[in-house]
Amino acid sequence: MKKNENKDMFKAAWNYAAAPESTDHINLQKQYDLYIDGKFIKPVKGKYFDTINPSNDKKIASVAEATAEDVDLAVKAARKAFKGWANLSGKDRGKYIFRIARLIQERAREFAVIESLDGGKPIRESRDIDIPLAANHFFYYAGWADKLEYAFPNRKPKPLGVVGQIIPWNFPLLMAAWKLAPALATGNTIVLKPAESTPLTALKLAEIINDCGLPKGVVNIVTGAGETGANIVNHPDINKIAFTGSTGVGKYIAKAIAGTDKKVTLELGGKGANIIFEDAAIDQAVEGIVNAIFFNQGHVCCAGSRLFVQESVAGLVIQKLKARMETLIVGDPLDKNTDIGAINSKKQLQTIQNYIKIGLSEGGEIYQPECSLPKEGNWCAPTLFLNVSQSHKIVQEEIFGPVLTVQTFRTINEVIEKANNTPYGLSAGVWTQNGAKIFHLTQRLEAGVIWANTFNKFDATSPFGGYKESGFGREGGLQGLKPYVKFE
Ligand code: NAP
Ligand code: MG
Repeated sequence: MKKNENKDMFKAAWNYAAAPESTDHINLQKQYDLYIDGKFIKPVKGKYFDTINPSNDKKIASVAEATAEDVDLAVKAARKAFKGWANLSGKDRGKYIFRIARLIQERAREFAVIESLDGGKPIRESRDIDIPLAANHFFYYAGWADKLEYAFPNRKPKPLGVVGQIIPWNFPLLMAAWKLAPALATGNTIVLKPAESTPLTALKLAEIINDCGLPKGVVNIVTGAGETGANIVNHPDINKIAFTGSTGVGKYIAKAIAGTDKKVTLELGGKGANIIFEDAAIDQAVEGIVNAIFFNQGHVCCAGSRLFVQESVAGLVIQKLKARMETLIVGDPLDKNTDIGAINSKKQLQTIQNYIKIGLSEGGEIYQPECSLPKEGNWCAPTLFLNVSQSHKIVQEEIFGPVLTVQTFRTINEVIEKANNTPYGLSAGVWTQNGAKIFHLTQRLEAGVIWANTFNKFDATSPFGGYKESGFGREGGLQGLKPYVKFE
């Protein structure tokens, strides 16, 4: 048997040819309603919005816009369901969560294609990362549901009640899984809002939740824009808000709930430092730099968007990085060879283009490989900025696109100071063959997640979250249960 036979069989199932993944058998409706109290219902005010395919600007479907009245119905359904769900045995809650995981696996191809259609990410990423990780998250927390007494020894954890969960557009299904799975395992009921530009996989998840017979009202999914989110935040009968999104909206939420007895966790923005020492395996590091910033078009809160290279190897690393960028394929998200898909929305494209202009006006030296971008849709070539310094706006602020700033350093203390010198504290990467240096940096870098000789690796068992303006609270792992319980 050839060494890679198994891998090839897996590839065959996914049809790795240089052709777009087929949209046959992808079941999409023209119109999507709200999922409240175990039913798909029309919004009270009858309003709908379009969700767009960002790679061709075409409408995919109409989606219900939940107003305050709908949010109220969803909260009432979640409140009604709370006692029954909280009092169910952990074993039974676990069975439902496990079933959700299994059904995501069974429908993985459909989920992957819809995620790429609605949000613009390369199918390779939806297929190999987003969807399997989402299923794994449900599997992992299904396992905790009947073991909570071991998670919190000598204390009796109680669910908080009705939880409002608001998620962003960069990893739509995965962020829904990060929020729902631990909240369900601990016995809470939920009102979840996906982002306006990527509502479809959350609505597909509602179908799965419905199919697996979860008691009605335990999970309610309300679609809409920021205002729908604000209606959740301000609803008086919600016990906790779990939010992932921008630092700006996170601050608004913290202010809005101040003085109430609502609890809150915030997973916010980032400006991750990716640090390459002269003793790093350089080719491996270059791959790591590309993955750190160009994965998911750079729409990644923990992206390695600031590169720091030790001066002695800077020339070599930059030369290799430019050469590698020339090979990146920007284009159709459904094509299995695509490395960089579509920018998620017109608005986000404008934000990125604006930062590129600012970078140039501040004296940055830009590098973009030549690539012919499709005429329709939202696209941005992979971009480097050399000749930048700490005070530059593009070094300090989150761009949330495929734009990397490059700085050099001489000493370890210098790079620690520079890496920590932003308002954020979410992620960092360290590339060196010297283990002691890695341990030293893990103590000194202000970042919730630090990768060594790799980047953007996620696992349901590992906690994730930030320091400083990147927010507070952890998702994933044992630590991810804590934000959803109280002790009496
Ligand atoms: P965003 O504008 O803050 O939106 C996040 C969510 O909040 C969306 O569902 C959004 O709805 C909703 N929202 C907007 N205004 C609101 C309000 N006033 N009250 C309540 N909800 C409101 O962020 P984004 O641009 O979608 O996402 C990108 C940001 O998320 C980046 O800063 C990124 O770093 C961060 N992020 C952080 C993590 C993490 O784990 N730390 C993970 C992923 C992303 P609409 O989209 O429908 O307007
Ligand atoms: Mg869309």
